[in-house]
Amino acid sequence: MTPRPAHIAIVGGGTAGWMAACLFARHWGPQGCRITLLESSEIGIIGVGEGSTPYLRHFFAELGITEAEWMPACQASYKSGIRFPGWSTVAGYQSYVHPFFNEQDLSTGSAFFVNACLRRRGVDADANPQDFFIAAALAAQCRAPVARPADDGRAPATDYAYHFDAGLLGQFLRRHAQGRGVVHRIGTVARVQRHESGAIEALQLADGEQLAADFFIDCSGFRGLLISETLGEPFISYKHSLFNDRAIAIPTALDAKAPIPSETNSTALRHGWAWQIPLQSRYGNGYVYASDFVSDDDAETELRAHLGPAAEGQPARRLQMRVGRVERHWRDNCLALGLSQGFIEPLEATALMLIQFAVAEFIASVDAAGLGPAAQSPYNRRVNQMFDGVRDYVLGHYRLNTRTDSDYWRANRANTAGADRLLSLLEVWDRGGDFEAELSRHGDALMYQRPSWYCLFAGMGRFPAQLRPPQHGILSGAQARAAIAAIAAAFPTHREQLQSLIQRPS
Ligand SMILES: Cc1cc2nc3c(=O)[nH]c(=O)nc-3n(C[C@H](O)[C@H](O)[C@H](O)COP(=O)(O)OP(=O)(O)OC[C@H]3O[C@@H](n4cnc5c(N)ncnc54)[C@H](O)[C@@H]3O)c2cc1C
Repeated sequence: MTPRPAHIAIVGGGTAGWMAACLFARHWGPQGCRITLLESSEIGIIGVGEGSTPYLRHFFAELGITEAEWMPACQASYKSGIRFPGWSTVAGYQSYVHPFFNEQDLSTGSAFFVNACLRRRGVDADANPQDFFIAAALAAQCRAPVARPADDGRAPATDYAYHFDAGLLGQFLRRHAQGRGVVHRIGTVARVQRHESGAIEALQLADGEQLAADFFIDCSGFRGLLISETLGEPFISYKHSLFNDRAIAIPTALDAKAPIPSETNSTALRHGWAWQIPLQSRYGNGYVYASDFVSDDDAETELRAHLGPAAEGQPARRLQMRVGRVERHWRDNCLALGLSQGFIEPLEATALMLIQFAVAEFIASVDAAGLGPAAQSPYNRRVNQMFDGVRDYVLGHYRLNTRTDSDYWRANRANTAGADRLLSLLEVWDRGGDFEAELSRHGDALMYQRPSWYCLFAGMGRFPAQLRPPQHGILSGAQARAAIAAIAAAFPTHREQLQSLIQRPS
């Protein structure tokens, strides 16, 4: 069996490069694997990417890093879910939440699933997820999704994620990786030297130095210096199904005394959607849009109007996005991670999760089967499944929109490209068929689980227009809202919780 790499060279010092460096150092460092991370001082990092999924908690846990250590250093805040105002125009469903789930959701959450099924079948039962999941009440009350322990010392389990400053997170991870023996080099790759076999032999740097290694990780961003430019791996674009290919980011101030929200806001605008991410000291804002439908200048005007006076005088960063994925992420002695391997627009903030998943799978795969070609196909299949599965779910938001204010939204609603799985789920949902069985039928191809699909379809108000009155005994939205508000009131405020991290010795 081919052994694991003796020397790994990582090209790129963005979030992907440093996350990979930390994980390789943790798993293979103790076995003598050397890791060098090279980054260019001339080519910057993307510098956005401030939201996450709950999977990121495993990353820090695996590295043995506590919240008190990393969160204050990265201006990080807690995230209880994502709110989507303006995607649907259906009465009662103009804003809904994709919550992270909570052990205490059990009773109201069960009622939500029952109500959603009744409503699909024509019964007038309330089924907006924002009324039934504690995450929504936590966000409404600006509370942290971190439960206080009860008298028995046990706190109810809560799923949550984080918001953070991307630049500070990179710096934090760099210090952590260097502390575990990762060598940091500054230099720009000018040429890539290859073996006769086609595999990568060494990186020639612009200053005349050379970096040789036996395995190379491409974290060079959208350009894909090793995987695309050097190895010529084909890129599968998602542009025909996900139209957005541009973004503009504008930070705004956060009132130092006001309560800090604990959810991402993803508000639909005329040609895309605007994110608002609350950090400890500022908001990260941005507009994700499609250049086929609006110019960069008009998009910036629209974003500034949306943000109001808070954006006056604030600089805007314009970004281009390459949306899709490479065909093979692992090829020869090269693994692509982060933006070089692919990107699904940031609606569900999944990019760091995909990096984590790709590294974890790679380590498990090499530990089990070595570095030989036999391990590569199953690995690439699994990573592709993950990318395509996230794409399917993100696509659902566009397909289900009911806006009529622009060609952009109409075209998104009419678009069926790349939507086979989504359309088959929708068909069963719409006819009131066995949705659970349909979800099971797709098995591992679905990246998102049952509750997320229910929250998306129900949250967008995808129900029959004609409804008959409900029987007695079902929970109304108002009753559920009162129940989750009472549970949420026992959680600390977001500010209190963040303050406690600073005061707590790490
Ligand atoms: C608008 C937008 C919003 C996003 N929001 C989210 C979000 O909410 N959540 C999330 O998880 N993700 C999000 N992402 C994605 C996230 O930003 C990236 O996945 C993450 O930052 C990783 O980027 P990277 O490290 O792959 O690339 P980059 O940050 O671009 O880093 C590339 C690195 O490669 C180096 N490099 C390039 N060429 C050379 C060379 N020739 N020689 C040496 N070094 C070189 C550069 O110096 C740099 O260090 C978003 C992305 C965009 C565009």
